Amino acid sequence: MTVCKNCGKELREEATICPNCGTPVEKDKGGFGWGLLGCFLPFIGIILFFVWIKKKPRTAKAIIIGVAIGLLLMYAGQMAERLAQHGMLY
Ligand SMILES: [Zn+2]
Repeated sequence: MTVCKNCGKELREEATICPNCGTPVEKDKGGFGWGLLGCFLPFIGIILFFVWIKKKPRTAKAIIIGVAIGLLLMYAGQMAERLAQHGMLY
């Protein structure tokens, strides 16, 4: 449930402004794009996660999932590289 950050009134999911006080509603839709950003820029993703965890929990969650995937891929890549080197050296 979204609430107006100005007056605290509950808002419909599709509302773009608060019907009570007219404050524009900040959308927190999460989103694939943010996950992708977290995947490619994990350190920026982690910072954004901590900045947004209270204000935009869905977006923050999407970012941290992206970060986790990004770090996993990075780790897998390093492991593959190490295995390849071992294969060549021994
Ligand atoms: Zn309001």
